[in-house]
Amino acid sequence: MIQALETGKLVVITGPSGVGKGTLVRSLLKRHPDIYLSVSMTTRSPRPGEVDGTDYFFVTPEKFQNLIAAEQLLEWAQFAGNYYGTPRASVEEKVKQGTLVLLEIELEGARQIRASFPQAMRLFILPPSMSELERRLRDRQSESPEAITRRLNRATIEIEAADEFDVKIVNDDFDRALAEIESVLFPGLPELSLQ
Ligand code: 5GP
Repeated sequence: MIQALETGKLVVITGPSGVGKGTLVRSLLKRHPDIYLSVSMTTRSPRPGEVDGTDYFFVTPEKFQNLIAAEQLLEWAQFAGNYYGTPRASVEEKVKQGTLVLLEIELEGARQIRASFPQAMRLFILPPSMSELERRLRDRQSESPEAITRRLNRATIEIEAADEFDVKIVNDDFDRALAEIESVLFPGLPELSLQ
């Protein structure tokens, strides 16, 4: 299994909820359609507009426990009251094919990946400040006030662990943050000049 993951590249992107990593990842995929973004399993409810099988596989807690027991998850963690995990089979298949595979996951999952696949590149996205992070989370209007509080508490813990990562990128200016991610993943690429 581990040998299979030595063929392609595995990249982990982590950062607190609301930091904008989803938007960064979507832009990255638009510019590099050859990157494979792993679709995670989660027990949380879909947000308006989210599509099962595209944004996440939305599953019951029972199904999630079965996947853990059957060792079908590469990593998994609990986050703000829900479970999240990376399906093992699709990631291994893509890496075996030589594809660059991206995991957008939280801190505990990133730590598990570091333990199992030390060769994975791990990036951490930082907000310009905690107050800006809080503003972004509230503006998103996708979570209840209690859920926002849980996510902000978790953000503090995650940011304290940022030094564990290979690369830290501050998402204050979106285009610059995207260019930085690209320069890490594709060191030979010229600097971006985005509008
Ligand atoms: P959200 O509910 O906002 O979509 O995601 C909450 C957090 O869970 C985010 O930090 C996201 O990166 C993380 N996450 C999403 N999928 C996975 C996964 O498969 N494993 C782990 N460990 N975290 C995940």
